[in-house]
Amino acid sequence: MTRPRILVVGAGFAGVECVRRLERKLSPDEADVTLVTPFAYQLYLPLLPQVASGVLTPQSIAVSLRRSKKYRTRIIPGGAIGVDLKSKVCVIRTITDQIVDEPYDYIVLAPGSITRTFDIPGLTDHAFGMKTLAEAAYVRDHVISQLDLADASQDPQERASRLQFVVVGGGYAGTETAACLQRLTHAAVKRYPRLDPGLIKWHLIDIAPKLMPELGDKLGSSAQEILRRRGIEISLGTSIAKAGPEEVTFTDGRVIPTRTLIWTAGVVASPLIATLGAETVKGRLAVAPEMNLPGNDGVFALGDSAAVPDLAKGDDGAMCPPTAQHALRQGKHVADNVIAALRGQSMQRYVHKDLGLVVDLGGTDAVSKPLGIELRGLPAQAVARGYHWSALRTNVAKTRVMTNWLLNAVAGDDFVRTGFQTRKAARLKDFEYTDAYLTPEQVREHIEGTGRQD
Ligand SMILES: Cc1cc2nc3c(=O)[nH]c(=O)nc-3n(C[C@H](O)[C@H](O)[C@H](O)COP(=O)(O)OP(=O)(O)OC[C@H]3O[C@@H](n4cnc5c(N)ncnc54)[C@H](O)[C@@H]3O)c2cc1C
Repeated sequence: MTRPRILVVGAGFAGVECVRRLERKLSPDEADVTLVTPFAYQLYLPLLPQVASGVLTPQSIAVSLRRSKKYRTRIIPGGAIGVDLKSKVCVIRTITDQIVDEPYDYIVLAPGSITRTFDIPGLTDHAFGMKTLAEAAYVRDHVISQLDLADASQDPQERASRLQFVVVGGGYAGTETAACLQRLTHAAVKRYPRLDPGLIKWHLIDIAPKLMPELGDKLGSSAQEILRRRGIEISLGTSIAKAGPEEVTFTDGRVIPTRTLIWTAGVVASPLIATLGAETVKGRLAVAPEMNLPGNDGVFALGDSAAVPDLAKGDDGAMCPPTAQHALRQGKHVADNVIAALRGQSMQRYVHKDLGLVVDLGGTDAVSKPLGIELRGLPAQAVARGYHWSALRTNVAKTRVMTNWLLNAVAGDDFVRTGFQTRKAARLKDFEYTDAYLTPEQVREHIEGTGRQD
């Protein structure tokens, strides 16, 4: 008799937690577990701004998938580009561009999210994202290259435009990115004696009336105060009207000469979800509180790509926010439900009460709200770093991160431009491969073409 096949799509917070739990709780002859992932690591996204600012090396937050002692999962290096629910087949494009059809009995969809963009002229051509390791490494090189080029330039206009930086998105990703990178340029300027520090200007803008509203009024104002004190200009109720290679136009009419536009204005579910042709809520797959897809046996979804009802907030239709905090807990929970389904037991509903938020603004600046307690400065920083450090999955990753933090605290920042990605296309549209996916009709056609039936 063949063993049931469990296919997990995505090796992020949700996917990796799920796989690890399946490996731990299922005996090898109970099921075969396969993981599809384009990368050989789990990316610890919340520390991405620290990679962009050079406090951490990229490898520190790329956590190995092959360190677990119980490791026995088959890993397919590639991305899922379509799922056919009828025939229970996932279509995969491998990293060598081969198309592979992977049949499953149970599928766990955890492909996360991509950067949310709007129809703003020039946006996808000129903005950088902060969602992948490559983007963080690229942004770091780009920011340092602006300092290098401004330093070398004799043209005051060019200097001024290279030394202005715009970050869009006042959530934790954008705020941390602006804060960490501003610290980098502030520290760097001492090593560029020809540059006028007064020319370096960071803008943080958001269409919402507040930065990080989840923090509440008092803590949110503290965060704004810290950023303003550091010289970051915050513009709320403002977005981008137009983006060009050398300037950005704000919706309030201001035209900012800049070569650096970083776009972190929210996320949307992975385009893989649309290939299912199933019901979605704001693009996320609509699932039951058990994280299964009603009417489709053996289909589960979680993390940023799924609209999981947030039962801790009551029965008013709220869905879990797209955070690592939920994704990793959902990963464990979904593994238990897959095992329950496999063994003919009943599945449990997912309930988790939010533990709060930590925001690392670099150095000793931070604001945190663990379990509703408002913290600022060093205590907030200790909670933020302690939380992230303990959430890193392997001891090697923990050691790398801690060593990097200590080194940075003692030796300060470095301003090395690696140049690995020089002259490569590197804007929003180039990093997230959004055009790789099939439509539901193309998935069906592909499956029919292979002669596979329901
Ligand atoms: C800069 C930044 C800071 C953040 N800070 C915080 C924070 O402080 N606290 C917090 O709780 N959350 C934070 N978040 C949000 C958090 O990182 C996400 O909510 C979390 O990563 C979601 O987990 P996930 O498993 O759903 O997706 P991810 O962790 O994004 O994992 C998705 C995985 O799927 C893979 N994948 C994508 N498409 C496919 C495909 N087609 N086929 C196969 N694999 C695929 C990806 O490569 C990735 O490995 C932050 C996010 C960012 C970008």
